This record gives sequence, C-alpha cells and structure tokens, in this order.
Amino acid sequence: MRPQSLTPLFAQVTSLPGIGPRLGKLVEKLTGPLVVDLLWHLPFALIDRRNAPEVAKAKAGEIATLTVTVEEHLVPHNPRQPYRVWCSDETGRLCLTYFNGREDYLKKLLPVGEIRVISGQVELYQGEVQMTHPDHVVPLDQRESILRVEPVYGLTAGLTQRPVQKAIAAAVERAPELIEWQDDAYLARQRWTSWKASLARAHAPAEETDLSPMHPARARLAFDELLASQLAIALVRHHNRTLPGRATKGDRRLHEAALGALPFELTASQKAAVEEIAADMAKPERMVRLLQGDVGSGKTLVAFLAMLIAAEAGAQAALMAPTELLARQHYATIAPLAEATGLKLALLTGRDNQRLKKETLKGLADGSIQLVVGTHALVQEDVEFADLALAVVDEQHRFGVHQRMALSSKSQAVDLLVMTATPIPRTLMLAAYGDLDVSKLTEKPAGRQPIDTRTIPLERIAEVVDATGRMLGTGSRIYWVCPLIEESEEIDLANAEERFRLLSARFPGKVGLLHGRLKGAEREATMAAFAEGRLSILVATTVIEVGVDVPAATVMIIEHAERFGLAQLHQLRGRVGRDRAKSTCLLLYAHPLGETAKARLAIMRETEDGFRIAEEDLRLRGAGELLGTRQSGLPDMRLADLAAHAELLQAARDDARLVIDRDPDLKSERGAALRALLYLFRRDDAVRTLRAG
Ligand code: ADP
Ligand code: MG
Repeated sequence: MRPQSLTPLFAQVTSLPGIGPRLGKLVEKLTGPLVVDLLWHLPFALIDRRNAPEVAKAKAGEIATLTVTVEEHLVPHNPRQPYRVWCSDETGRLCLTYFNGREDYLKKLLPVGEIRVISGQVELYQGEVQMTHPDHVVPLDQRESILRVEPVYGLTAGLTQRPVQKAIAAAVERAPELIEWQDDAYLARQRWTSWKASLARAHAPAEETDLSPMHPARARLAFDELLASQLAIALVRHHNRTLPGRATKGDRRLHEAALGALPFELTASQKAAVEEIAADMAKPERMVRLLQGDVGSGKTLVAFLAMLIAAEAGAQAALMAPTELLARQHYATIAPLAEATGLKLALLTGRDNQRLKKETLKGLADGSIQLVVGTHALVQEDVEFADLALAVVDEQHRFGVHQRMALSSKSQAVDLLVMTATPIPRTLMLAAYGDLDVSKLTEKPAGRQPIDTRTIPLERIAEVVDATGRMLGTGSRIYWVCPLIEESEEIDLANAEERFRLLSARFPGKVGLLHGRLKGAEREATMAAFAEGRLSILVATTVIEVGVDVPAATVMIIEHAERFGLAQLHQLRGRVGRDRAKSTCLLLYAHPLGETAKARLAIMRETEDGFRIAEEDLRLRGAGELLGTRQSGLPDMRLADLAAHAELLQAARDDARLVIDRDPDLKSERGAALRALLYLFRRDDAVRTLRAG
C-alpha cells in the first residue's frame, strides 16, 4: 500500500486552489492528472521582476515593475483599435495597451485616481513608455508579492502562466517532508538538501544558473528519479531470478529443418545470438535477454530459432508484436519456415473472426499449437497456454514493462527475449533496462550493398519525379514518405494525399497510399499490392517506419527529411537495401536548414551504422527530449536529462545494486524510505514484486 504520507500528492489536480474542472483538464494535458505530476514540471526560465525603476528610467525590452497612478481610460470607438489606459508617476507617463480589452473589467482592475503596481515588458512606442497586456496589475499593498523572481513554466494551448504557477506553488506547498531515502554519506558528499527542500528550490529559481540540470536541487531530483527507475528495474530482475525457472534444451532437430528451408546462411552474429539464447534457455533460471539489432539485421529469424528451441523441448513459444501490421508480417516471415519444421503456428490479433479465434485458443490451451505470433491480444485473460516456455516481445516501440510481464506471467516459468530495432546508446540502455543481458546483431546479412544516400533540395522535386519515372521503367519499387507533423495529423494526411494525387496523375494505377487512418484491411490490401508489385510507388506517412518488409523495394524518398529525427530517418532508410539489389535513398529538404538538421543529413550520407547513428543522435539532441527513446521503451524521464546526468545514472545503477544485495526485500529503515520513493515515481509494479516474492 502507498504510504499515507504520499496521499496528498496523489489527489487530482482539481483539488488544488484555483484549478476547477476546465483548467484541470488543461493542466492534466500538460503534466498529468495528479498533484505529484505538477511537482515534476520544473520551470524552464525565470522572470526577474525585482527591477522597479521610475517610469522615465524604464528601458525598452526589459521586464519592469512600475508603481503608477491611473489617470484616464481611452475606450476605443472601433473594436479593432486597442483599449488604452494612461498612468503616470512623478517622472513620466505610461500607456497600458489592451487588444480586445473589456471596459467593465479594465475599469475595475485600474480605477482612475488609484495607485497600481504594474509588471510586464516595457516598450517604447513613438517616444512613449508603453506596456501591452501587463503580466500583473495589483494594488499597492500587494507590491511585495510581485517584486520577485518568477518561475516560468512550459504551457499548453489555453493555459497561461499565472494559474500554472499558482497550482505548482500549491502542489510544492503540499509536498510533505519525507523520510530520507538517499544514503546519508552520498547526500553529504553531493551537498544535496532534503527532497522537499530541493523541490522547493528547483521551483524557485533566483538566477539563470539555478535552471541548469547541474544545479544541486535539480541534480538531486534527477537522481531520485533515476534511482527509482534503476531500483524498480533491479527489483523486477531480482524477483524474476528468484522465481522457479526451467531448463529448456533443444536438440536442434527443428533448427536443421528450418535452416534447410532457408535460401541463405545465418550471419556470424545471428549464429552467436542463437547460441547465447540457447545457453540462457538451457539454464534453470529465467532468461531476460535483449536482442538488439539494426533494421534488417535479421532479428525475426533469430527469434524464430529461439522459439524452435522451446518447441524442441516439447513446449510452446509466443511472439508478441506492437502492431497488427507487424504481427502479420512476422507471421508471414515465419510461416513457411514453421511449415518446414512441421510445427503448428497460429496468428492471434484483436481482429480475428470468432470461430478462428476459438480454435486458436483451444490449440494453445491443449498444446496442439506450438508457436503463436500476435499482438497484445496474446496477453488477454482468455488466452491460456498448455506450456509456454519462451515469450518473445518485439519492442520496436510502445511496449512497457507491464505487457512484458503480463506475457511472461502466462506460465510458470517463461524465458523472455525482447527484440528492439532501435540501436540504443549505452546510457539509454542502462536507463531503460538496467544491466540486461544483450545479444547484438552487428552485421547485415551477406550480399547487401550500401545504400546510395543523397540529399536534394525540395525545389528540385520535379527532377526527382522524373527520376522516379525512369526508375519505374527498370521495375523499381519505391517508398515515398511524407512527413509527420506531430501536432496535426490532418495536415499530415493532406500532404500525403496531395502527393498521392500528383504522383497518381503522372503514373496512373501505379501508386498506393498508406497512412495511420486506414482500416486494417485496406492497409493490408495496399501493402500486399505493393509487395506483389501491382503497385510500384507507395506514398506513406511514417506508418511504414514500424517494420514494413518488402525486400524488393529499393528506393526510399523522404520529403522534408529535415523534419525527421535521425533515428527515424535511419529506420525509414532501413526499409530498403534489404536484398541484393542496389538501393537508393533520396532525402529531400527545404531551406533554411538549421545546424542540427544539417548535421543530421550529413550523418545520414556518411554512415549506415545504426549504433553510430544512435550515438550521434543522442549527442545532437542533447538528450533533452529524447524522442528516439520512445522507440526504445525508455521510461519517460521527467527530471533526469540523460545526457547531462549520465554520471548520476551510473551512480543510481550502482546504488540500486547495492540495495538489492543488502536488502532485497526493502525491509530496513532505508528500505522503507525507498519504497516511498518507488511509489512517488509510480513504480508500484516493482513494489508489487516485493509482496509477491
Ligand atoms: P529485422 O527484424 O532485424 O529488421 P528481419 O528479420 O526482418 O530483420 O530481416 C530482414 C530481411 O533479411 C528478411 O527479409 C529476412 O528474411 C532477411 N534475412 C535475415 N537473415 C538473413 C541472412 N542471414 N542472410 C540473408 N537474408 C537474411
Ligand atoms: Mg523484423
């Protein structure tokens, strides 16, 4: 149970003063539904309002707090004109300007003849000192309340600073003093203050350096978050180790049948990965292993061979994919090989017809189906396995620890193999998975040629379309990707549709369109037509990023490549070059190119090495908003900045290890405090393993 002391922080944000249902919705969108979410929303800037000059001395562009007498309201005749209020002190006059100002409201706020303290940005307009929409207008007796440094928070549409500042201040106020969970010696060495004091300090920056991730208050909070996450991972791991495992040994009989049906040889790293997995599965403990490899490095095949080990041992294996499309693709890859082994393979997704689904469920429950590929439908309650020995989770993105655990809890003793297509830099690996056993596929299958990657300004798109025509003449199959604008799926879609129309007009009957809004069946029909060559150009939004596999496709054209992240570009490019034929990638960009975008495109031209690209990506992003990590299943870090806090991450890992060695059930005094830490960061899943174990 969550400690009582945390209860006030786990109330809804609407329990805070000034946050009603309407603002509550916006705040929830911004930070999350609970008071504790507000605590983690740290200011990104500050406004120093301590500058309080006389009106004549106020300088344009600066923030000033002016104390003035209200003189006159100039109500506009024409609503397009601004509403003006003239004020003054002994040194000069100040004009307040309001667009769409409401007369009744402004007359109440600024009564003629009274003194008001006004704070905002000073402008000089035709020699007059002016302020447009001042941030604060208060009576004289509240002057002190605004003469201070104000934290500035990130907002969302519809929200303004003031209510957010108020709500966060109230949330911080509500935060209790908690029993210290950090090691005292470490705390002293870092010169960190208590959690509550650090929290209050982080929300009350007094100067720019206070906003740095290295500021002790922020560093402490970041460390708390990292420790919670590392401890949670370590606890789950520890828990899994203490569960009874099983030794799953195969005799390679099915391997031979499957490999015999393959038209190619395994690469050296595929072979090594299979051996590592086989060795893990043969041990009596539970396996938790990550299979990491670049796009097209052949992970699916390795996963399948691992599944065969389970089948050779007379048990079952399941492969769970994050999307319907991927599940079907894995199924299509695996099906012919499964056939060669004589095993029964099923597909289970949310969209199966009831009769078929019933049959599959029955086969899994009685063991007559040995292998299954599916979506999260696999972890639904009605799915039972006769004897599941291996769960493979393809975690291209989207899956969290929860689903992973749900699948492995489907049986007494399941070995777990997690596949990820995103090469993850070491720091991120550590943050996402702690110390995890990893198999890496470092080479591409033999016979693959380097992808000819070029960058071309968008103005030359007509030439690109002409070139497309020539390529079609030689039988090429082409992906044409239109960019994703996060905020607007509509515009996105419109762009892709427009491109589809233009290309269709030029190449009638040869162009297909693929996007996230399409129904599953339509999408599959289009994919199939492209895979079979009935369509030659596939215009798509980034839905194809997640694992579309058409080996015959050899051209990737990306419009507005400058809008994509490096990891995303790499994933997209990985959709071609999957066969022996020579492939091309054209990155079309619009001017002006920012420094980062320029660097990204240069790296794309320079290398195809996913691990190198991932490192560069991390460097370029400064790791502030690690978008690429969405794909790595990285827990969402709100306080820690993995680039800035890499050392803290190591320290948190070491500390978590130490805790697990000394007090794995968190029974000591520090252990109890650490439980509170886990709850604070919503790692209840990890606490639950304590009770279960
Ligand atoms: P990933 O899942 O790592 O992106 P896949 O497993 O989908 O890669 O493999 C990509 C393509 O390469 C598939 O068409 C697969 O059949 C093929 N492939 C896999 N291993 C090899 C190999 N050793 N040699 C040649 N082709 C391979
Ligand atoms: Mg794959």
